[in-house]
Amino acid sequence: MAREGAAGPCVAPSDTLMEPSSEVCAQAARSGVASVDRPGSGQSLDLDAADFYRRVLTWFDRFGRHDLPWQRDPSPYRVWVSEIMLQQTQVTTVIPYFERFMSRFPTIGDLASAGVDEVMALWAGLGYYARARNLHQAAQRLSDRHGGRFPQTLAEVQELPGVGPSTAGAILSLACGQRHPILDGNVKRVLSRHRRIDGWPGQASVLSRLWTLAEALTPAERAGAYNQAMMDLGATLCTRGRPGCERCPLATDCLALAQGQVMAYPRPRPPRNLPRRAAQFLLLRNHQGEWLLERRPPTGIWGGLWSLPECAADEHPADWCQAHLGTTAIQVENLPARRHTFSHFELEMRPVRLLLTDETAIVADGNSWVWQRPEDLPELGFPAPVARLLHDLGVLKAQIRRPRQLAPRQRD
Ligand code: SF4
Repeated sequence: MAREGAAGPCVAPSDTLMEPSSEVCAQAARSGVASVDRPGSGQSLDLDAADFYRRVLTWFDRFGRHDLPWQRDPSPYRVWVSEIMLQQTQVTTVIPYFERFMSRFPTIGDLASAGVDEVMALWAGLGYYARARNLHQAAQRLSDRHGGRFPQTLAEVQELPGVGPSTAGAILSLACGQRHPILDGNVKRVLSRHRRIDGWPGQASVLSRLWTLAEALTPAERAGAYNQAMMDLGATLCTRGRPGCERCPLATDCLALAQGQVMAYPRPRPPRNLPRRAAQFLLLRNHQGEWLLERRPPTGIWGGLWSLPECAADEHPADWCQAHLGTTAIQVENLPARRHTFSHFELEMRPVRLLLTDETAIVADGNSWVWQRPEDLPELGFPAPVARLLHDLGVLKAQIRRPRQLAPRQRD
């Protein structure tokens, strides 16, 4: 099986726990690509960096995670896929998805040549489906422009869809031993508490401070192990709830702990007044027992996923049926509304169950609306709020594979 860049180990000889596996990585590391400007770099650091990272690495050697599937043969491609899956999703949930994905798409070329439906089906249940679409598009781009090889510089990796500075740094440090800091949600939490960084980490000035810290604390050697250690520390000890400070290697000089304010950091996102939208979600069943579903457009909210047909909040669902399906609804049942918050608006979902007349309801809207058999529903990719709705109403009877989101890896 030819996997890109599988010719030999990367540089970083002292990084024994996360032995990288690509010769091209070694070339990039030798060429000094690790030197990058970060937002806010150049500020002074009130901390002995060497003492800090040594404690982290000593803890990692003993208590860190060393046998995750992507740590075995950590090629850039495998680490990239794992990092994307780990955004917003915890390790134990990701492992079976990762193994299935790698078994079906062992190389960038395999992923690039696959159909988007197959990629989405392997992702179904993992949530945040834009990640799968981005991976697929990025693999196609790598195939077209880079001969199927994974790029080796931070700038090139960051150009891939769905990859920001932290994910790019994680891939190149974990797979290639390059020295790049990372700043995922776990690392932000550890640093915010240890240094008592005031302000919400999503705020530009706070983020800049955190990048400065991360940059200054990342060692020249064993950068991959250090980054993995910081992620492990945040996921297993410096957790959101009930952190295990008594076992933490950073407890002796942790400012939040010294002040008894651990749970006050990182500061929460300030409350926002999001605009509200409402839509009716139609549960339509035909006389063959099939459900009418709508495939969302490839871009935008829930892009490419399956959902229910929507009707404007001020339109009567029976009129909608007449206009779009040419049939009459003889019973209309309004079900309790529920809310879902997106980053930029709040959606009020008003489910409506409709019973159609005997006439056949014709679907005449291309491929976006399809009658689906109930037994096929569990195989389709639904957005989480729609899957919850269908499950709660007994439409989706199979167990929904919902990723648990403890200690999520916040996006870049
Ligand atoms: S001492 Fe507690 S709060 Fe401070 S870094 Fe360690 S786990 Fe986090």
